[in-house]
Amino acid sequence: MVQSELVKKRRKQASLANRLTPCECCKHPISQRHHLVRFAKRGENEYTTQLCANCHEVYHIMAQVYRNWYNGNETSANHILGHLQQVWGMKHSTLIFLHELVTKAQSIEGNLGIAEL
Ligand SMILES: [Zn+2]
Ligand SMILES: [Zn+2]
Repeated sequence: MVQSELVKKRRKQASLANRLTPCECCKHPISQRHHLVRFAKRGENEYTTQLCANCHEVYHIMAQVYRNWYNGNETSANHILGHLQQVWGMKHSTLIFLHELVTKAQSIEGNLGIAEL
């Protein structure tokens, strides 16, 4: 691997200011950086958002379920999201917010030509 590839693959260290940014979804006072354009596809990039640990996990579960729909798979992510939908109800603000965020991320990746799920 050449040096430029190593740099591209390295994750930017989260700053204290980043970590003290409230969750975009539920306003929890500490958060993690999430890459809307997947790090695995594009490395460090400008398309990020701040989510608390719980919302971040639910985001990735939901994104996995949407990929599963596309690929005709079913994984434990489907069962976890189904559980949340049952416990919270389909109109829970976290589910609605994260659905919109996953959809937005898919659209940005689509515009960047990262078509494959
Ligand atoms: Zn949150
Ligand atoms: Zn993430």
